[in-house]
Amino acid sequence: MGEFELIRRFLAQIGVPSDDLALGIGDDCALITPPAGFQLCCSLDAMVEGVHFPQHYSPVYLAQRALSAALSDLAAMGARASHYTLSLTLPEPDPEWLEGFAKGLAAVSERYAICLVGGDTTRGPLALAVQVHGWVPHGRAIKRSGAKPGDVVLVSGSLGAARAALELLATSDPSAAQAALLGRYHQPRPRLALGQKLMPFAHAAIDISDGLMADAGHIAQASACELVLDARKIPMDEALKHLFPRAALGFALHGGDDYELLVTMPGQAWSEVQDQDWSAQLTAIGEVRAGQGVRLQHAPNTNYQEQAGYQHFV
Ligand code: ADP
Ligand code: MG
Repeated sequence: MGEFELIRRFLAQIGVPSDDLALGIGDDCALITPPAGFQLCCSLDAMVEGVHFPQHYSPVYLAQRALSAALSDLAAMGARASHYTLSLTLPEPDPEWLEGFAKGLAAVSERYAICLVGGDTTRGPLALAVQVHGWVPHGRAIKRSGAKPGDVVLVSGSLGAARAALELLATSDPSAAQAALLGRYHQPRPRLALGQKLMPFAHAAIDISDGLMADAGHIAQASACELVLDARKIPMDEALKHLFPRAALGFALHGGDDYELLVTMPGQAWSEVQDQDWSAQLTAIGEVRAGQGVRLQHAPNTNYQEQAGYQHFV
């Protein structure tokens, strides 16, 4: 199977074309008509076998994780996702693998009504990169740099489950609780709808890909503020607390891959927002103060304070 047949058979019709798509896969470029009054919001995420996903990893999950991780960056800016491109490097064109991969991409693409509009396909060690595009009303994107002293710090959903799942990847017959944690790793749910709801209220946001403490540090640094977090308030799944009672808090503070949103907004905005049903996705975990860095209060011991977060090249 050649490159063109591979694209035609597996990648040519994935997702939901939107009104702004004038020309998709098949020419030298895709053509997209920007909606008036919006800015293009774009982000690229790369994944390499053995670094970001295990060897012999399911192609369905790989596609879902790669696309979801990229979409999570759009969620953090408050953007509406629109389309994406894909760079795929494969050791060989295995039809069974490609079918699974296309199925995973299609599932996430349909869930968020986005479309694969182009890419590049090469031979080599397994790796991929997804570039996502979305639209945000001009000048309204939520940045990391907008936090202000007095803001409430909020986090969506719950933390630590994806890190716990790393301990369970080799489990052959997972229990219901184990399967719940594994699902959080294999099939992350980027908070796209929530990001758009938050856009008018939030001062700052980031998606938690490296771990709560590390990503809170990014807001603190970009905003030149201190984030003070309360360890007792960090939301964690029942399954996580039950299966990893001693490690749970460390996983929630320092584990990556949860793709939840960390947000700051004025206390007044938080009071208003609590009337809306979507605010139930959020938990207040701290506040922004004058200063720098991230301080964790009420942790069982001081070991939890240290900043981890995965960094390449250190
Ligand atoms: P060119 O050589 O002009 O860059 P290619 O031969 O690489 O074009 O690709 C042909 C068409 O297939 C283009 O529209 C390109 O965007 C699309 N394409 C190639 N690889 C992928 C991929 N992995 N996913 C989606 N579209 C792809
Ligand atoms: Mg060309």
